[in-house]
Amino acid sequence: PKTLRLILGDQLNSQHSWFEEQDSSITYLMLEMRQETDYVPHHIQKVIAFFLSMRNFTKDLETKGHQVIYVSLDAKDNSQNLEEMINSMVDQHNFDQFEYQLPDEYRLDEQLKTIGKNLGIPCRGVDSEHFLTEREYVKDFFQGKKTFVMESFYRQMRKDFDILMDGKEPLQGKWNFDHENRSALKDKRLIRKAKKHQKDISEILEMVQKADVKTIGKIDENTFAWPCSREESLEVLDHFCKHLLIHFGDYQDALTTWDPFLFHSRLSFALNTKMLSPLEVVQKVEAYWKEHQYEIDISQAEGFIRQILGWREYMRGIYWAKMPDFANMNFFNHKRKLPEWFWTGETKMKCLSHSIGQSLELAYAHHIQRLMVIGNFALLVGIHPDEVDQWYLGVYIDAIEWVEITNTRGMSQFADGGIVGTKPYVSSANYIHKMGNYCGHCAYSHTKKVGEGACPFNSLYWHFYDRNREKLENNPRIGMAYRTLDKLKNKEELMNQAVEYLKNLDAL
Ligand code: FAD
Repeated sequence: PKTLRLILGDQLNSQHSWFEEQDSSITYLMLEMRQETDYVPHHIQKVIAFFLSMRNFTKDLETKGHQVIYVSLDAKDNSQNLEEMINSMVDQHNFDQFEYQLPDEYRLDEQLKTIGKNLGIPCRGVDSEHFLTEREYVKDFFQGKKTFVMESFYRQMRKDFDILMDGKEPLQGKWNFDHENRSALKDKRLIRKAKKHQKDISEILEMVQKADVKTIGKIDENTFAWPCSREESLEVLDHFCKHLLIHFGDYQDALTTWDPFLFHSRLSFALNTKMLSPLEVVQKVEAYWKEHQYEIDISQAEGFIRQILGWREYMRGIYWAKMPDFANMNFFNHKRKLPEWFWTGETKMKCLSHSIGQSLELAYAHHIQRLMVIGNFALLVGIHPDEVDQWYLGVYIDAIEWVEITNTRGMSQFADGGIVGTKPYVSSANYIHKMGNYCGHCAYSHTKKVGEGACPFNSLYWHFYDRNREKLENNPRIGMAYRTLDKLKNKEELMNQAVEYLKNLDAL
């Protein structure tokens, strides 16, 4: 039978069993579409990276002898509508059946089910052969539990995939070395340059600009450096093992103006587009560490592996366990809009101007910038989770809903009321100061709690706890904060200070 197979922009998995043999009765279809560029305004680098990677993937398939129909954004026959495009392909070329890989986004999953029903020829969704667990695995694993504790899932994954194991026990006797991973970076000389892949992006950029796609952020050849093919992605992985793994865990939480990437791998885009598989990344890092364990501590490798084998896989499972309801959760009933400076980085708070500025320039911020600077602020001031989600979904190179929303609405905003995390990730200026050098360059004083120049994080932190007392006080992990709050001598002054700041977030 003549078969049409759809490949979505985040399904660039050249190792998929679809491609094992080339078959002249099969045609692959890839589409650049307004539906995807427009569901939120994306960072311009994200749009370019997706299209460039899709085009490279197509070239690769063609070289291997597969037939591909590639429809560019500006093609005359591009109706920009997924259903219409699939229908017209089926009519034009008389396909007998339609196949697709199961999407990772709820939105596309629903859309493809509907398209399949209406198409009039047999239609089948197959596994994307990327993740280590099935969609429903996490849901079943935590059946009947209110909170889904990542650590227990992670330990099971270590055993199931025999990663960092010594028989049935974890290597070196411990599952988790997280408490060793919390240093601020004091020595600039340790920093290694990121592996960048600069390339000519002018043609795609011109097409996107001509089409008037609404985007955010900046792009030029010096800042656009994302791996956009499997080959480039493997080079980034190799670079990570050789130069960055050695300090990954140590400085995973470090905040500094010295370098945007530090010892982070920059692999999230390659992973989320499936150019790399999570298992190959984890196995490569494990093997590299084993060969170099006399110079690289296990905590570096375990810390990294936990992010992929644990967190990434777990977040995907939460997504399928809790969608579509998850997307409407708003535990604190937060309502505020994001301040304007989320789109410019122009705030006097150095931690935020640096983290947001970097996000707009590079489509990237590392985990602690996303969680403990930007997300922390949004939660303390009570931004509506829809606003927060849209910003994160747009700005980051790796933002695809299944992994964005679980991190943003779940881990960072606690809008799920405690499914992903057991307590809200909030902090005063103290934490931000401790983890790096932002406060040293700031117009506000991190030690000041009230009055002229007091760091907003300080009063907003207590205001958050005070206004959410009913929802949080009984949480055993938080009780301590309330005991401290109740003993504060200047509580009223602190609350007044916070209220002043909340009146005009744009002015901060
Ligand atoms: P590294 O620090 O080198 O980590 C290695 C890999 O581990 C990452 O590439 C990623 O695949 C995985 N990983 C690490 N932490 C997480 C996590 N919490 N959840 C899932 N995977 C993880 N990650 C995304 O891929 N897409 C997103 O849209 C996204 N949004 C986020 C929003 C917020 C508010 C927060 C707090 C985190 C978010 N993350 C997201 C998780 C994490 O911050 C990024 O994966 C990471 O910063 C990407 O950079 P890296 O590849 O250099 O990561």
